[in-house]
Amino acid sequence: MNIVFLGPPGAGKGTQAETISNTKGLLHISTGDLLRQAVKDGTSTGVSAKEYMEKGLLVPDDVVLNIIAERISSDDHKHGFVLDGFPRTLVQAKALDETLRNIGERLDVVFYFAVSEDTAIQRLSGRRTCKTCGANYHVQYIPPLKEGICDKCGGQLYQRTDDKPETIAKRLRVYKEQTEGLIDYYKRNKVLKEVKGDWDVDKTYRMITKVLETIPKHHRRHKEESFLGDNSEIYS
Ligand SMILES: [Zn+2]
Repeated sequence: MNIVFLGPPGAGKGTQAETISNTKGLLHISTGDLLRQAVKDGTSTGVSAKEYMEKGLLVPDDVVLNIIAERISSDDHKHGFVLDGFPRTLVQAKALDETLRNIGERLDVVFYFAVSEDTAIQRLSGRRTCKTCGANYHVQYIPPLKEGICDKCGGQLYQRTDDKPETIAKRLRVYKEQTEGLIDYYKRNKVLKEVKGDWDVDKTYRMITKVLETIPKHHRRHKEESFLGDNSEIYS
């Protein structure tokens, strides 16, 4: 099962993506995490991505697509993936579909998290991230047991540069401009499901699980089979 979680920053999709991927045994691909890791490792992708991220701008498509294609093609996702934070534009969505086709995959469902700007700002400005392991907390919704300290590893929590109020407003504006055509595209492809981002975490989780139960399972094709041409009938 291949899933995309779509929505503005602060819509709560990261939390759901993590939970769903754990309970369904899916590979959780967070482009934000992948990019931050690349920045931390100082790879060439990371160096070029860093400049954009610090300004609250989007990282160029080719950079992100390269990282994702690599991750999806790897052999550690037998049951599928949850893609979180990508695609953000129509061009990216089409490029993703093509990347998936090339490896004999497709998207089963796209969850769109609709959320008001106020909610998004409230969520993002309260977010704290662990310096050591990258775990996310929220001062109000998911507070750590001890303030400023990570429950999982004891690392120090900090506020990411792109979660500061001045950057948040810009991120939301950029997101809205970029995603308009994307929602329609997935609607036309009949894979879009809307989630109310203002719901509480449990209610949202139940709604997502319910939708996933209606989706027929499909088997992952072997890479060799993708050279046989159009095999769409293989999906059951
Ligand atoms: Zn930690």
